[in-house]
Amino acid sequence: SKAKGRNTISFFHQSIQEAADARMFLEKELRSAIENQDFVLYYQPQTDRLGRLSGSEALIRWEHKEKGLISPDQFIPVAEEAGLIVPLGIWVFRESCMQMRKWLDNGLDIQHISINVSSKQFRQQDFVDQIAEAISQYEVPASRFVIELTEGVVIDNIDDTVKKMRALKQLGVKISIDDFGTGYSSLTYLKQLPLDELKIDKSFVRDITTDFNDAVIIETIINMAHNLGIDVIAEGVETEAQRDFLYNKGCRVFQGYYFSRPMTSADFEVWVRKGER
Ligand code: C2E
Ligand code: CA
Ligand code: CA
Ligand code: CA
Repeated sequence: SKAKGRNTISFFHQSIQEAADARMFLEKELRSAIENQDFVLYYQPQTDRLGRLSGSEALIRWEHKEKGLISPDQFIPVAEEAGLIVPLGIWVFRESCMQMRKWLDNGLDIQHISINVSSKQFRQQDFVDQIAEAISQYEVPASRFVIELTEGVVIDNIDDTVKKMRALKQLGVKISIDDFGTGYSSLTYLKQLPLDELKIDKSFVRDITTDFNDAVIIETIINMAHNLGIDVIAEGVETEAQRDFLYNKGCRVFQGYYFSRPMTSADFEVWVRKGER
């Protein structure tokens, strides 16, 4: 049994080693993917109740040479830990500016692009400067961009957050709190922040028509936001029933598979043009 124990231990070590190797490999691949810009932004429509466009969210995918499209959940956390999220985040913002420039030049009125910003990126001292630089370089109106931050990021360092949010607002960029309801922000925090939008997390939307508690939470969020003059969008809307429920509670902007999945910019343009006819 002693021998067996030793085997167990060495097996254990081996699997930890394998996991570490795989992780190192992923990090190395990610590093060169950033250098080669092997990423693409998909766009998901944000709409009114009838599916008329009111904006879009940019969602990154890794175009891996052998493995095909890799979803952000599989590499954003690694990019965060390895510090690669900073250059990656800058790429995302610049790419979005370039896309908006193209849309404007082609007469496509996409009201805004919402962009996900990670904690490490937001905490960079020159974060706002990077945004300002991209906006001026691509000559796009700042009002065409919404920065999505999660509750955790926002309350992590409230002084720095307020300072940066004010600077962003000064530029004309809008600010949204993503995954709202999953964190711990209190009304007191929200009141201090120059927010334009709260995005209700899809975990609440999922059970809205069956779970009384989720329904109450959503209704409370919507009323609170509106009382503070903040817009509300619901993500993860998959059914007509969810949309109707949210609408009846006062939500006016929706995002989710019920309206459309995230699409390549080409497919997104076709989708938008169809709606214009
Ligand atoms: P998120 O910001 O909460 O984005 C919403 C996610 O829900 C997206 O997954 C979207 O494709 C998915 N989704 C949209 N509609 C529905 C629906 O009706 N039902 C369900 N079940 N899901 C829906 P995706 O694209 O895989 O992105 C996952 C997460 O990765 C995002 O969550 C965001 O946190 C992160 N992410 C994506 N792009 C970026 C980026 O450019 N930068 C950073 N830092 N993070 C990003
Ligand atoms: Ca988001
Ligand atoms: Ca979310
Ligand atoms: Ca999320």
